[in-house]
Amino acid sequence: MEEIFVTRSFMPPFEEYVGEIRDIWNTHWLTNMGVKHQQLEKELQSYLGVRHVSLMVNGHMALEMALQAFDLSGEVITTPFTFASTTHAIVRNGLTPVFCDIREDDYTIDAAKIEALITEKTVAIVPVHVYGNICQVEEIQRIADKHGLKVVYDAAHAFGERYKGRGATSFGDASILSFHATKVFNTIEGGAVCFSEDDMERTLYNLKNFGIRNEECVESVGANAKMNEFQAAMGLCNLKHVREAIEERRKVAETYQELLQDIPGIYCWQKQEDVEANYAYFPIRVAQEEYGESRDELFERLGQQGIHARKYFYPLTSSFECYQGKAEKTPIAERISHQILCLPMYAGLEKECVEGICRIIRRD
Ligand SMILES: *Cc1c(COP(=O)(O)O)cnc(C)c1O
Repeated sequence: MEEIFVTRSFMPPFEEYVGEIRDIWNTHWLTNMGVKHQQLEKELQSYLGVRHVSLMVNGHMALEMALQAFDLSGEVITTPFTFASTTHAIVRNGLTPVFCDIREDDYTIDAAKIEALITEKTVAIVPVHVYGNICQVEEIQRIADKHGLKVVYDAAHAFGERYKGRGATSFGDASILSFHATKVFNTIEGGAVCFSEDDMERTLYNLKNFGIRNEECVESVGANAKMNEFQAAMGLCNLKHVREAIEERRKVAETYQELLQDIPGIYCWQKQEDVEANYAYFPIRVAQEEYGESRDELFERLGQQGIHARKYFYPLTSSFECYQGKAEKTPIAERISHQILCLPMYAGLEKECVEGICRIIRRD
């Protein structure tokens, strides 16, 4: 069997991208909020169903800037079951992460466990819509309102999703997206902050552009996190194809579900009710007792046949070397991190490949 990786970047037809970047050769406008940048922000506002979109050079900087925009200091309640970026963005803002356990069924932060972690130092909650599974947004907002906390969602996995008909990145005080090459929608590298408060637009603009308002006025101590015109052009092209790409992912997910459903000890990702999903990932949970093989053994066995799955998210961010000794106990997240395995999932993954992967897992 040919080698299959956990993901494959979506690319538009070559001619479409060349067509999109051609006028850059006339204008020589390569970056700094050019025409493509402005157009992509506008198109994303409408696609995502959010009031404001501020494009960023990548998803990590989007999260750092979103947190920085609120000028916080103290503790932030978050999940350890995520990519390094979430926890790093909190710490790099001088904030202290306080790790909350996750839910068994969808792996998002367990809202019922948040309040017990709130102290007089708590200033925000940073939940993650992990694998595109939407957090308990109503309950999280209720807690935040009661205690006067900001909510910033790491929505890197939730591009274009809808929850009860509403854009998934319209919840909380802000949501960040990643447009990294490996995500459902990419601008090669890229990201965005979605928000509804009008005043935040200026703050984020300053943060991503050195605080420069005009030639003579520098208003605040900003960094540089601008998206360039080539990234934005890739986004404009990919946005035209993203619905079909998600549809192709849906078919992959359904094939996995159909072929893996009755294997003892294999628990497949399930679409949440009320969510229009984007099928960003296909995680399975391997329960060794019932399946007879550990997650690591299955991972190795797939690898030997050229199937490169990923132990995503393992280890927990709270057990990274750089965070050792500080972390709260999150037993459910700990157990799930040893059981979880993301199977190959991307638009264009052929049905025969999915069948082949399932045969290996079934041990047929
Ligand atoms: C990809 C990702 C990020 C970071 O995005 P980049 O665009 O790679 O900087 C942040 N959080 C999560 C959960 C991610 O998966």
